[in-house]
Amino acid sequence: MNDFLFRILLTLTLISWTVGWSETQETTHLTVLHATYLLDIENGQLLSPGEVLVKGDRIIAAGKSVSHPAGAEVVDLGGRTLLPGLIDAHVHLFLHPGAEDLQTIQESVPQRTIMATLAARDDLLAGFTAERDMGTEGAGSADTAVREAINRGDIPGPRLRVSGNAINILGGHEDAIGYNPQQHVFPNASYANGRDQLIAVIREQFKEGADFIKIYETGEDRVEDGKLLTPYQYTQEELSAAVAEAARLTRSVAVHGTGEPGALYAAQAGVRSIDHAFQLSDETMRLMREKHIFAVPTFTISEYFAAHAATAQAAKREQTILDLHAREFHKQLAAGVPIAMGSDVGPFPHGTQAREFELMVKYGMSPLAALQADFINGAKLLEWEDQLGRLKPGFLADIIAVSGNPLEDTSALGRVDFVMKGGVVFKRPAR
Ligand SMILES: [Zn+2]
Repeated sequence: MNDFLFRILLTLTLISWTVGWSETQETTHLTVLHATYLLDIENGQLLSPGEVLVKGDRIIAAGKSVSHPAGAEVVDLGGRTLLPGLIDAHVHLFLHPGAEDLQTIQESVPQRTIMATLAARDDLLAGFTAERDMGTEGAGSADTAVREAINRGDIPGPRLRVSGNAINILGGHEDAIGYNPQQHVFPNASYANGRDQLIAVIREQFKEGADFIKIYETGEDRVEDGKLLTPYQYTQEELSAAVAEAARLTRSVAVHGTGEPGALYAAQAGVRSIDHAFQLSDETMRLMREKHIFAVPTFTISEYFAAHAATAQAAKREQTILDLHAREFHKQLAAGVPIAMGSDVGPFPHGTQAREFELMVKYGMSPLAALQADFINGAKLLEWEDQLGRLKPGFLADIIAVSGNPLEDTSALGRVDFVMKGGVVFKRPAR
């Protein structure tokens, strides 16, 4: 090897060590991951030991043992548990803590986009290898650029399904109410009043790169006599038109839906998920079960807001809603409503959202059910069910490792110390 070639190779090697995410995994590179345990999510069992053989960006084999081909890199993860990469079905990469302040008004879209790239990195290093971004909150379609930069390998981050800016009515839940009208403060969502505007905005968002549509269907919320009161924003007919327009392009609609009657209108219209889902009628729950519409509970944001409210009164209001939601969640589980894990991270720090698993268990799910809601239902909701959420031959090599047994203690999911996405290692345990 001549000196020039050697120096180029050395430089490339150093680059790939320091910025692991810029590696493009060679299609022939073989890796064997070995650990004491491996989670078989479909059968709900821990295998021991656990091994996964990865070639390029795909899983070739997984189980108690796999073949160790000559030349394969062996990564020994000791006493850890191997799991598929985590999936968060409700995130906001374009929000950071303080979301109830003026960040979306004071910070420019370029500034917010830079912050979003850091949020994507933090989520990935916490083990979240796939996410559904539920609205840039006033940053337009900037999420498209973040998704594409991640897909090209320019920046580290999860695989993304993005909604662009969410959609809202004039004077609705996300409109900028309470400011001097002469300042014409923009809302955190795109206006669409009535059926025709809704369809036009949906077409615009798909043109700008959205994977799906997010609609604010309810809010502001209040609780009276144990009942959640929340105005709806779109009628069932309007939501049906939105769902039909998205379906024309084989896409789907997700709603921010906290209560009735908006949640029922959304379920009748055939949305893909009803996010937050604080209180649902029997008929809504029946339809969700029948049509496989996911509820995404986002307990962590409620817990965070209750603990970080600006006033005692606001804290009490958040806690009242969380208590109501916790009671209602038991009914939803009993009614067989499909649940997917989503945290609403952004208003609380990116990378800390594994807390959601602990709260799903606290409010009535078994650890296994919470994990299946994440891996199996999350992959379905993100329309990656044939690619993600299982350690299975042919699936993408999105693999994490944690210390401890997540089937006994879901807090282990907050301590991810190995992260592989598409066969590329982004995080390794400190020795
Ligand atoms: Zn949200």
